[in-house]
Amino acid sequence: MPGSSVLAFDLGGTDLKVARVSADGGVRGFSRLPSRAAQGESALFAAIAAAAAAAAAGGEARSGPAGFGSPGVIEPGTGIILDRTPHLSLPPEFPMRSRLELALGRRVVIDNDANCAALAEHRVGAARGARVSITVTVGTGVGCGIVVDGRVLRGAFGGAGEIGHMPLGSTGPACGCGVVGCVEPMASGSGLVARAQEAGLRVSNARDVFESDDPRAAAAIERMVDHLARMLGAATQLLNPDVLVIGGGVAQAGSRLLAPLEKALVRYTLASHRKGLKLVPAALGEQAGVIGAGLQAWQAQRPDTT
Ligand SMILES: [Zn+2]
Repeated sequence: MPGSSVLAFDLGGTDLKVARVSADGGVRGFSRLPSRAAQGESALFAAIAAAAAAAAAGGEARSGPAGFGSPGVIEPGTGIILDRTPHLSLPPEFPMRSRLELALGRRVVIDNDANCAALAEHRVGAARGARVSITVTVGTGVGCGIVVDGRVLRGAFGGAGEIGHMPLGSTGPACGCGVVGCVEPMASGSGLVARAQEAGLRVSNARDVFESDDPRAAAAIERMVDHLARMLGAATQLLNPDVLVIGGGVAQAGSRLLAPLEKALVRYTLASHRKGLKLVPAALGEQAGVIGAGLQAWQAQRPDTT
């Protein structure tokens, strides 16, 4: 149906992004509002309803399903957020999909936000044309989505792709998730800043560290890159991707991150798996999540297509 679009949302702890997304990933009426997620369920759903009304008022949106990207592990069969996510102030085992369907008055196709971003990069972004792509978002934490032949790999209960919480023998600080040796505190942007501060540097974000000429900053970057490379190496050995996409705030460092990361990957990957493997920056920026959520809604209407 040329010209038509679905409503798509990308919910985060701070922001709620909304847009109308066409079947080819085109975006119209993109906007970003406060998600009010920290204020609890009713504030969050008021924000979602207001965003839906604003996006729908801006132009035609099909009456079919809306796409929704959310933090947390979303159980595919039920649309429940398993356990809970620290990014939303909601009760454990929250029935997110059915609550959204009630609030929006339409069917909702829901998935984890990193899965949505990964699908968008695979279909219309930096990994277009890939067979198997892994999109890793390096920011406060480490997010990841895996797409195989145009379909998100969700795992049995929706939790596939949590590569930030792999126990890679890190001797660094403990992660709040409880996994012993979790790599995220060493591989994330917030970890980079913490390690640089421990070394005595006055920095407040990852950009400060990358822009510093201090050798202590270079050492902190080298350690972060090494842990990122171990994480990506493990994922590469397991899934044999042809494209690794790096996004998130830390990826704005560009070649200052990607060049050493590519070099470090050689240490942690088999030569057979490096052959043809591309490491690329994300292409869709802050719109990746809504584009992927919208593409999932389209995909649900045409299950035979990718
Ligand atoms: Zn962890």
